[in-house]
Amino acid sequence: MTEPETTNPPRIGVSSCLLGEKVRYNGGHTRNDFMLNTLGRWVEWVMVCPEVEIGLGIPRESLRLVGKLDAPRMVGIKSGDDHTETMNEWSGPRIEALRQQELDGYIFKKGSPSCGLFRVKVYGKNNFPMAKGRGLFAHALTQAMPLLPVEEEGRLNDAQLRENFIERIFAHRRWRQLLAEPTLGGLMDFQADFKMTLMAHSPSGQRDLGRMVAEGHDRPLDQLMDEYGRKLMEVLSRIAGPKSHTNVLQHLMGFLKSALDRGDKAELVDIIHEYRLGRLPLIVPITLLKHHFRRHETPDWLSRQVYLNPYPSELMLRNQI
Ligand code: SF4
Repeated sequence: MTEPETTNPPRIGVSSCLLGEKVRYNGGHTRNDFMLNTLGRWVEWVMVCPEVEIGLGIPRESLRLVGKLDAPRMVGIKSGDDHTETMNEWSGPRIEALRQQELDGYIFKKGSPSCGLFRVKVYGKNNFPMAKGRGLFAHALTQAMPLLPVEEEGRLNDAQLRENFIERIFAHRRWRQLLAEPTLGGLMDFQADFKMTLMAHSPSGQRDLGRMVAEGHDRPLDQLMDEYGRKLMEVLSRIAGPKSHTNVLQHLMGFLKSALDRGDKAELVDIIHEYRLGRLPLIVPITLLKHHFRRHETPDWLSRQVYLNPYPSELMLRNQI
């Protein structure tokens, strides 16, 4: 089975305070143990603290967003000093520098007027907060890099969101490697290797991408790669639930039809059923399938499926979904 390559890890942008850097307004941090001790073994971090990098210092006045939801201002809570222009002017070149570093994902600190990705409070006229905003830097970065997998650290506590995000950053890393030397043949291999992964996220998305590649001969390669990349990241961001995983597992089992004896077949059917009912985690049927694929002769394309090894198994993400 093809294991994910570990010599060229995904490069992940991150709000510095999440890795224990004492850069918060009060001189503290919000260290995230999963990111530091588990995920950190498999990725390369690129730390950014927008508020420190625009020169606000540590400690500093606490900031908040005020005004319109779609164009909030970032101001000091006590002084009312407006830092919006400074932040926006700094963001452009900083994001360009991050683009040069070829990120595969970004993890933001939740709730921050600079880094928060979802439901950041924006205070309106009556000083009434609406938790529907986005931090200024997070907004600028997601606008500039719409395909980049992004998440908030709080949401990584949800097993399914965490698994989806980490699967996407490793997929993005593979995609970035193909973009370094793009060929139609390389894209065909990529599509073949990701077939089961894409099917788990969206059967119709997988078919659309397959069609795009099959009809790719007639199009300029850069246009094809661009369209494929957009669709790929959109499909992968759809959460794959037990129903669609079961569909893929049964599909994979079909390749063992003539190889397995009656007892092995019944065991596999039973384990997939138990997974479907939520009584076993996904790792169990996947491990059993891999065991049978190792023991029996299977087509090369099957053993190359990224679905069987989307990220280092040590992350144990499929033990929890
Ligand atoms: S949330 Fe962002 S701006 Fe605030 S301390 Fe963390 S990295 Fe710096």
